[in-house]
Amino acid sequence: MIWGMPIWKFIIELYVVFVIVLFLIKALISHRKILSLGIIYLVIFILYQILEYVDITHAASIMKSVVSWLPIAVIIIMAPEIRRGLDLIWKKELKPMFLIGSDQTKENIVNATFELSKQNIGALITIEKHNTLDQYAEKAITMNSEVSKELLVNIFTPLTPLHDGAVIIRGDKILCAGAYFVLTENDNYDKSMGSRHRAGLGISEVTDSLTILVSEETGDVSIAVEGILLKMNDREKLSEYINMFMK
Ligand code: ATP
Ligand code: MG
Repeated sequence: MIWGMPIWKFIIELYVVFVIVLFLIKALISHRKILSLGIIYLVIFILYQILEYVDITHAASIMKSVVSWLPIAVIIIMAPEIRRGLDLIWKKELKPMFLIGSDQTKENIVNATFELSKQNIGALITIEKHNTLDQYAEKAITMNSEVSKELLVNIFTPLTPLHDGAVIIRGDKILCAGAYFVLTENDNYDKSMGSRHRAGLGISEVTDSLTILVSEETGDVSIAVEGILLKMNDREKLSEYINMFMK
């Protein structure tokens, strides 16, 4: 007997809690925020109901506290999005939640990318969509400048103060430079893949952004989107993706 219950029951309780905690941690770090939180909540709620029904009491009481605390966790995790939403209401400016880029901006991004590639200058350019990248921009160097080919090339030129880290683009503006993302833990890709490409993949796993990567070693251009890395062999292909993404 452990905690006044037979060992088999205790093992089941322990196993259920272990699986759920593992599932929670894995989902939270690797899935899109809103979707994963919704699914997690639903799963925990159903499990709680089942545990109560079959009278697995300790696990059920843990599940009960998770069910009641999760909404608070959601508010904390979603704070940047909530703040942005409230900002919009307070400012009474009904801006769209994500800004589309002009044709000029798209062209400047593609031109800059292939100029950087030609010169073998490493680059990491992340274009924001619906999910805000404010939390990364806040810790980076604020720019708020119009997107231009020259500025993008200049930012990534080695030995300049802004060249390390990522540029974040919002609509027609370069929001910031020198942003740092959490690296992907996906090891399906080449083990020799460096931190620039891992950072690009990382941000594409946790937000709906698109990231352009230029390799300093090879000059190769690729994009990271939805947790996948795609090689861009020519400007037409990159243009196509950018046009689809920023429209
Ligand atoms: P390359 O093909 O250009 O060599 P790589 O994928 O091999 O790229 P590294 O050689 O490790 O990657 O690139 C290092 C550069 O990547 C750093 O100088 C920095 O600018 C950028 N970088 C490293 N970590 C991060 C991060 N967490 N977020 C954003 N940028 C990062
Ligand atoms: Mg490298």
